[in-house]
Amino acid sequence: MAMAITIEDMAAFCKKKGIVYPNSEIYGGMAGFFDYGPLGIEIINNIKREWWKTFVQSREDIVGIDGSIICHPKVWKASGHVDNFEDVMLTCSRCKNKVRADTFIEEQTGIAADGFTVEMINNAVSENKLSCPKCKSEFEKANDFNLMFKTNVGPLQDESSLAYLRPETAQLIFANFKLVSENSRLKLPFGIAQVGKAFRNEISPRNFLFRCREFEQMEIEYFIRKDMFDSCPWVSEVMSHEISVYSAEMQEKGQQQKQMTIKQALEKGIIMSPWHAYFLAINHQWFINLGTRPEHFRIRQHLKTEKSHYATDTWDLEYNFPFGYKELQGIADRGTFDLDQHIKHSKKDMSLFDEEKKEKVIPMVVAEPSLGVGRAFLVFLFDAYDDDKERGNIVLHLHPRLAPYKAAVFPLVNKLDDKAREIFSMLKQDFHVIYDRSGSIGRRYARADEQGIPFCVTIDFDTENDSSVTVRDRDSTKQERVSLNGLKDYLCKKLI
Ligand SMILES: [Zn+2]
Repeated sequence: MAMAITIEDMAAFCKKKGIVYPNSEIYGGMAGFFDYGPLGIEIINNIKREWWKTFVQSREDIVGIDGSIICHPKVWKASGHVDNFEDVMLTCSRCKNKVRADTFIEEQTGIAADGFTVEMINNAVSENKLSCPKCKSEFEKANDFNLMFKTNVGPLQDESSLAYLRPETAQLIFANFKLVSENSRLKLPFGIAQVGKAFRNEISPRNFLFRCREFEQMEIEYFIRKDMFDSCPWVSEVMSHEISVYSAEMQEKGQQQKQMTIKQALEKGIIMSPWHAYFLAINHQWFINLGTRPEHFRIRQHLKTEKSHYATDTWDLEYNFPFGYKELQGIADRGTFDLDQHIKHSKKDMSLFDEEKKEKVIPMVVAEPSLGVGRAFLVFLFDAYDDDKERGNIVLHLHPRLAPYKAAVFPLVNKLDDKAREIFSMLKQDFHVIYDRSGSIGRRYARADEQGIPFCVTIDFDTENDSSVTVRDRDSTKQERVSLNGLKDYLCKKLI
């Protein structure tokens, strides 16, 4: 079922169904940019709403913000992005073809080169005699490439007006930290969440929505007082949760990942921080609760060589894509790095007064659950996609809460159009529904299956007499007769 198709097939399916289009395709397209179509926008909005409901609205300890995409360039100087947010690039000495060094080396040699310095990249290139994939000429010496998109603000187009499109949402949370925590009267531990666009000038965007130049993040910065590091008040809620674990040690020793409970991972000291364990588990649970299969995920600890410039320990929640296990979400521990940097650069006091300790504290970020919306979107699509040979069509088994339409309304024949439209209008007040009267009922069922619509409501010749309709379930294809009076309640119960 899932995993049966490649990422290219998925991209083709998404285009055909109005889910995702290549950006500005009429002009030849723009690598690393995509547009969501009529179905895609619904699915993606549903994903973001579900995330916000789970991680912000249903919790007392997390509040949200929506920061702007362009901000003072000093934010990015303080955060380290101006000086450090780089990938190493290899340029062909003859045809000037450019490749992202770490992924290229990994593809060619199997060496995990993520986080390699320029010197390590140059060594790997010469040791493995790597050459330009296009013309087989030698590479020039490797060089760093800053991934931030630059722009100018105001009429002056010079260094003084230089600004950046934000490469992550996190810094807006830090820059607003003091105001948000005071306005919301938050007491440690607490989190600040944000959903929004970010931009990275990737050297080689690839794998459809997986690595884009413009993308969206759903992110939480979670703050604690340093002495809370070893005790997460909610970790007991996830102790029995099972997940496949792939620690740095298992990777170094060439072992397989192991299925275990959060309790076991903590007791064996595989996951050091109960906060990381907690956030990894609740994010895995979020995916499972929305219909994905638990066994398609694992958590993997970063090796020493691949940690970001700020992180002391990082775990990724990974998903088994058709192109292998890849990162969905990084759970990093940023310490007080960001707030310290902003205090230093802005010369503003960003400490909180801790009532309990009666002292000023600079909170540390114990976890930064950051999830790419496009990657989550791909996960839900891959797990939902089913080329059903028996039915002869594709079925998108999307969770009803993520489905772009909750029901499709059909008149059995066109003569029943008026009655069917009446029922459609009634449902439309409460649900996002679609009306379809063209083609045979079988054809209309197939079309609804491919759009992931969980229920089809058919109005037939008996409807006038018995005030009932036939409701067909997408996943089982079972049909049930449901009275018009009870139709809204029936759908409501099924759509939770
Ligand atoms: Zn070349």
